Amino acid sequence: MPESRFVRKCYNYLLNTKTKLFVNWTLEIKRIVCENNCEHVWLAQNVENDNSFIKKFTEYIRRRHLEAWQTSLNSSSKLSLYRSIKTAYGHEHYLNILNVRKYRHAYAQLRSGFHELEIEKGRYNNTPIADRLCKICNLDQVENELHFILICPMFDDLRRRYIAIDSITTPTVDTLYALMSNRNELVVKHLASYIYYALQRRREFLTL
Ligand SMILES: [Zn+2]
Repeated sequence: MPESRFVRKCYNYLLNTKTKLFVNWTLEIKRIVCENNCEHVWLAQNVENDNSFIKKFTEYIRRRHLEAWQTSLNSSSKLSLYRSIKTAYGHEHYLNILNVRKYRHAYAQLRSGFHELEIEKGRYNNTPIADRLCKICNLDQVENELHFILICPMFDDLRRRYIAIDSITTPTVDTLYALMSNRNELVVKHLASYIYYALQRRREFLTL
């Protein structure tokens, strides 16, 4: 970038300023560059070819970020559903479809594992998984995403209204994954509605 450009002048000023009273963006650039094996570029304050460096450096950071994301996903004990339905990093398709906040929030909760079902609550008080039973029906089943979406009889009417009959009649983990991975707009909207109204009913029941 030419030395006459305003951004370049700002960069040079911040780079040479001695004050450490605040973190300026040149220090942030230094951190990113040095953390990604390019300390020599920071020291030289120059590269042979700007465009080529930016392209390679961006790709390098993207790849490292993806590796870190995949590692954290694989090592997480709580994100089993998310891991199964989210195989590629990137923008979630459902965000384009669900434009009503309450449905989008409910759907995202179930999809990511950040919800109030017993399977998740039990993690915080060290309840054995086998004892994290559904408290709103008498099936004595663990209240996980599968039970909540496809099995719990408390939501049979909602299920019949919002979920396709072939999913209801084969309530398996594979069916759940297929349902949660479905990209059809109507299927996603209906599933989000089901989750929202079922969570609402569940909360009302448990506060009685
Ligand atoms: Zn139940």
